[in-house]
Amino acid sequence: SSWFSCVEMGPPIEVFALNKAYLDDNHPKKVNLGVGAYRTDEGKPWVLPVVRQTEQQLAANEELNHEYLPVLGLESFSSAATKMLLGADSPALTDGRGFGVQTLSGTGALKIGADFLNKHLKLTTFYYSNPTWENHGLIFTNAGFTEPRQYRYWNPETRTIDFEGMLEDLKNAPKGSVIILHACAHNPTGCDPTPDQWAKIADVIEEKGLFPFFDSAYQGFASGDLVKDSQAVRYFVQRGFELFCSQSFAKNFGLYNERVGNLTVVMKNKECIAEVKSQITLLIRGNFSNPPNHGARIVSTVLNDAQLYKEWEGAIKTMSSRILSMRKGLRERLQKLGTPGNWDHITSQIGMFSYTGLSETQVAHLVKDYHIYLLKSGRINMCGLTTHNIDYIAQAIHETATN
Ligand code: PMP
Repeated sequence: SSWFSCVEMGPPIEVFALNKAYLDDNHPKKVNLGVGAYRTDEGKPWVLPVVRQTEQQLAANEELNHEYLPVLGLESFSSAATKMLLGADSPALTDGRGFGVQTLSGTGALKIGADFLNKHLKLTTFYYSNPTWENHGLIFTNAGFTEPRQYRYWNPETRTIDFEGMLEDLKNAPKGSVIILHACAHNPTGCDPTPDQWAKIADVIEEKGLFPFFDSAYQGFASGDLVKDSQAVRYFVQRGFELFCSQSFAKNFGLYNERVGNLTVVMKNKECIAEVKSQITLLIRGNFSNPPNHGARIVSTVLNDAQLYKEWEGAIKTMSSRILSMRKGLRERLQKLGTPGNWDHITSQIGMFSYTGLSETQVAHLVKDYHIYLLKSGRINMCGLTTHNIDYIAQAIHETATN
């Protein structure tokens, strides 16, 4: 018999299964609203011009080589990433009690952060929003957290945050629970707390002795404004919280497969920085030894050059405005068609995704009869819409919602 005959089949990962079904479909009008990546109005992936240009410069520079990076990664990258998140004048940075370490994209930052909290602070309970990005649970349980819990977040009736429910669940969380919070552009709902609501969330986290772990996967990509999209994290730092924040450069740099990420650590005082860094070094060493260079070098080059930074901000605006115009276009079309229901949420939600409110049956109908692929939850990637397919999609949603 084989060592492996005892292995049971794991559950499929919905978003990848959906993408495969889309690729296998030969229908000429097929649309992919599943996978979370930017597409141009031609429906194509986009290499940001500033990224292409930087890559070409790096490739031509014969002084660069492929030596290993240090275990904590490229310092010029992680310090610029942390600065971009917290602001150069952040008290955490001016006091020298905040730092970043390079990770394997946002996922890797969450994993290293979770490993650290479980192994060194002995934390075992974590809370994620219901619903959330589907990987949060897996990452934290793989890191040794034994108590996965959810806090209420979404009210399907009002199509807004169930804020009372959220606060109540956080108030009932045991001391030392890690609370995963989406820094901006909540995935999948596209609904973020208001500044006033963030203040109330912070109050509860403080009173109850909880640990905030922000997940920032869409900074700049959500509103087109890097400062605005990091307000929640900056607010917590201003209030003196200790926290972790995972940062992904997949979306805002279009560097999905290069796995460029950063884990920002903010502490109350700088005395324990050396100890914490040494333990994170050992975690990374034992996980993947050291991070890849290519993407981090691109991001570092851009973030540390005023002119390239400007060009990058322009590219972020291009992406976020295309998404906004698709939101507006879809809402207008549905309202014009008189599609049953209120569609205001399409434009009030922000970021890459919209939580349409379509039921599982309606989703199945869209996939089968219209070859429009979207997650069972009704989440659609706004970037999958283009000026060429938006009428088709609106018609399909209209027909589905009418019958
Ligand atoms: N968090 C959230 C909420 C996300 O949506 C994503 C990307 N889908 C990530 C983290 C991490 O992605 P990556 O590992 O590709 O940076």
